[in-house]
Amino acid sequence: MKYSTIKSPSYEEALAKKIEKDKKKARHPLKRATSPVMRRKPKKAVRNTTKVKTTAKLKKELDRLFSLYIRGIYPKRCYTCGTQSDRLQCGHYISRQYLVTRWDTRNCRPQCWGCNGYGKGQPLIFEENLKKEYGNDLVEEMKASRHKILKLDRVWYEGQIQMYKYRLKTL
Ligand SMILES: [Zn+2]
Repeated sequence: MKYSTIKSPSYEEALAKKIEKDKKKARHPLKRATSPVMRRKPKKAVRNTTKVKTTAKLKKELDRLFSLYIRGIYPKRCYTCGTQSDRLQCGHYISRQYLVTRWDTRNCRPQCWGCNGYGKGQPLIFEENLKKEYGNDLVEEMKASRHKILKLDRVWYEGQIQMYKYRLKTL
């Protein structure tokens, strides 16, 4: 009894206070809704990492691997001006807009930033050099083939990506 007589008034007081507080809260539902806790932004949805890559992303990935491959198999020298560098780019003779030759190793060579960027690929010198290497016919054939329309799907891209990953490992 002694225990409860000491404990009960403070407990009752606390309970009464809590009831009063809850009543006030209930009277102001909007106030509660705008409390800092409630205003906090909802958590962002967890990103689905298993999402299937779009064809555009696969194309970008293939470009990246193919560029590394080109810079790995050919000398570290700009194909059109001869500058030696470790920071070369993958230059295309026939523009990348044509998919038929976009990932054709015969159409691509390492180029310095100057030739590939400012010089817009130096197509005339590029062509001369390719013709010296492969002969007139092959270069003309490659040039003529550029209008062929290709429908490249995800399976094709994924296959090429796997192939270049393997080729890069075995360089
Ligand atoms: Zn150059």
